[in-house]
Amino acid sequence: MIISKEPKLTDAQLAEVESIVADFNCRIQVIVGEHRCVYAILGDESHELMFNRLIGLPYVDRVDHIESPYRLMDIRGELAKQPFVINDCDLNKDLLIIAGPCTVDPKNPDLLFETAEAVKEAGAHMLRGGVWKPRTVPYSYQGDTKSLELMLEARSRTGLPLNIEVMDSVQLDIALEAGVDMLQIGTRNALNYSLLKEIGQKTQNIACKVLLKRGRHMGPIDEFIAAAEYIVANGNPGVLLCPRGTLPGLDGYRNHPDESIIPLLKQKTWAPVVYDASHAVGRSAFVPASSKAAVAYGADGLNLETHVAPGAGIGDDPKQAITPEVLTKLISDLNTIRSL
Ligand code: PEP
Ligand code: MN
Repeated sequence: MIISKEPKLTDAQLAEVESIVADFNCRIQVIVGEHRCVYAILGDESHELMFNRLIGLPYVDRVDHIESPYRLMDIRGELAKQPFVINDCDLNKDLLIIAGPCTVDPKNPDLLFETAEAVKEAGAHMLRGGVWKPRTVPYSYQGDTKSLELMLEARSRTGLPLNIEVMDSVQLDIALEAGVDMLQIGTRNALNYSLLKEIGQKTQNIACKVLLKRGRHMGPIDEFIAAAEYIVANGNPGVLLCPRGTLPGLDGYRNHPDESIIPLLKQKTWAPVVYDASHAVGRSAFVPASSKAAVAYGADGLNLETHVAPGAGIGDDPKQAITPEVLTKLISDLNTIRSL
């Protein structure tokens, strides 16, 4: 839909607009209003170059998309009917809880094993644990492939499926070889389209879910959904969206908590929304309140850094992991909120 700066285009301007859209097999339908005309583009609107050429015209004020940029993710689409089950959690009915340490410490395997048992006991459906870590400062600990062995051991001890972040193709292949149940794409790779494409393609015939975090610099809603769509378009419809707070942070929190994006996402797409309260607030004391707000806003699940002894953990755990005791009470409170 083209909106011109003046109430209507001149004949020469209209001819120029028509010729641009014709290059993309589209045509213009003029809608004549009482005070001004608008120009609908009929045809496939998905050509970015067509939009850029129209927006570049000096007499055009704006060009709006009418069609959704993400047809596969659309709440009215066919995929909205797909079943979404992880472990014993049916996301159409239950709240999904993913819990575990920020970062697996390969020097202290027992901390992971105890944490895995404890989050299971608390009611978590899936174990998270960072094997390879994107960090705020590049000189920080970046993970160790050895930790994957520990996560696999934790899975066989508890039966909990695994959520593990991958940041590149090498890690992806190792994780898939190990049979990881959910791949996490971190906020720093939220728009790494070549990685998203590769993940979609390499998981198309296996039961591996993909948790896509929101870009940390206030990733717009449509950009977030379109990035998820790219994974789906490349073969894997098992995508979940994970808001995790944005930058700049709210003074006192690590990021700007973004629970309020949840109903906006849920209005547009069928993808389950799993909120990461831990990174949103960055302090364990605030995680329960942020999680409750997310559930009140309609979250389908939570991704919560949890550790049996946060102070003895590495990565983010000392500052933002909750304990299994806090998790147990929180899950009960969250289910109460959901039942309201
Ligand atoms: C994490 O989940 O530990 C993590 C690094 O998340 P994010 O990409 O949201 O920073
Ligand atoms: Mn973390």
